[in-house]
Amino acid sequence: METKVAPIYATLVMGYLEEKLYTELPTVFDINFATYIKENWKRYLDDCFIFWTKSEEELQTFHRTINNIHESIKFTVESSTIELPFLDILIIKEGAKIKTDLYCKPTDTHQYLDVRSCHPSHTKRNIPFNLARRICTIVSESDLKQKRLHELKIFLKRQHYPEGLIDVAIENASQIPINELRRTRDKDENQPGNIPFVITFNPRNHNILSSAKRFFPILEQSQNMKNLIKESEIINSRRQAPNLKRLLTRAKYETSSSTSVQKCGDPRCGTCEIIEEGSSKILKSGHTLRPNDRMNCKSQNLIYCATCPTCNYFYIGQTGRLIDRVRVHKQQIKDPSIRNTPCSKHFDECGTGRFKIFPFYKMKNNDENFRRAKEDYFIELFKPPLNRK
Ligand SMILES: [Zn+2]
Ligand SMILES: [Zn+2]
Repeated sequence: METKVAPIYATLVMGYLEEKLYTELPTVFDINFATYIKENWKRYLDDCFIFWTKSEEELQTFHRTINNIHESIKFTVESSTIELPFLDILIIKEGAKIKTDLYCKPTDTHQYLDVRSCHPSHTKRNIPFNLARRICTIVSESDLKQKRLHELKIFLKRQHYPEGLIDVAIENASQIPINELRRTRDKDENQPGNIPFVITFNPRNHNILSSAKRFFPILEQSQNMKNLIKESEIINSRRQAPNLKRLLTRAKYETSSSTSVQKCGDPRCGTCEIIEEGSSKILKSGHTLRPNDRMNCKSQNLIYCATCPTCNYFYIGQTGRLIDRVRVHKQQIKDPSIRNTPCSKHFDECGTGRFKIFPFYKMKNNDENFRRAKEDYFIELFKPPLNRK
């Protein structure tokens, strides 16, 4: 399951199936056992667990019952009279006693975050503590717990955590009473009104939040902001800066057609007739334009090339909306009194009133100043004959 809402779907579907299961059970088992199942059924998302107190045959009856609830949702059953993993817990049956141990998949390499990695120091301090706390929470027998904590120390040393840091983490986790560790926590122990102050983590940054707090009185000049800030605490939150993996790999596979120019196809569009389609255009200057994005007549916030169809002289311009810009070009070609670039006169005379247009650089932000700077850059680079006064 990949998407963010998948766990919510799984929980909703499973909750619904359970309701149906509970009404079905008394028709299959006696009422006492049906009640036993309802009261002892444990689940995390779509992983379920129960201590089965009846025979193997009755387990198969149960399996058939739960698989008949919905035609396309099927459960697999794993059962054992010795031990079973559930989530990260190995549940071991010893006579009438149940022991629990940490369960790691055979493929788990225990490659925890390397302590030399560029992360906030509290994150790296918390990792040994949280791992030790998980062991202390799960492992029921004290000799086994010591063994697991010792293994943890080896794994963490391999990731270059200082021995002192590991020892303190293990010591702190070991001192928490088991009933405290296993207590169910309320969902919103994080105060509901917290506002995260998010900055990209960089070890050289000082604590920007403490400086920013001095300027909060400015925000409080607005009554809405004042109410918001009064009820909330602003907490430091750091996002990870792009690492090499993120810089070097791309989730999206870009085909050449995704960065080309196309007509919009709208029958009323006045730009379709003059827009040049394709994934590249060779200029008279010898340069090749390759669009940096998928664009059509309706594209906005871009740099374009307007070309004379007779002599291929060209003009570089910028626009917020290509359709509007084309309209202005057309008006200026028709009406000499409103011309403000030499290209209009050229398109009128040499181009006999016609021109072609090729948008090739889509801006990443909406700032007109950036767009004008980019236009200047391309004018400097291509030296378009029709931009000259
Ligand atoms: Zn169009
Ligand atoms: Zn021309």
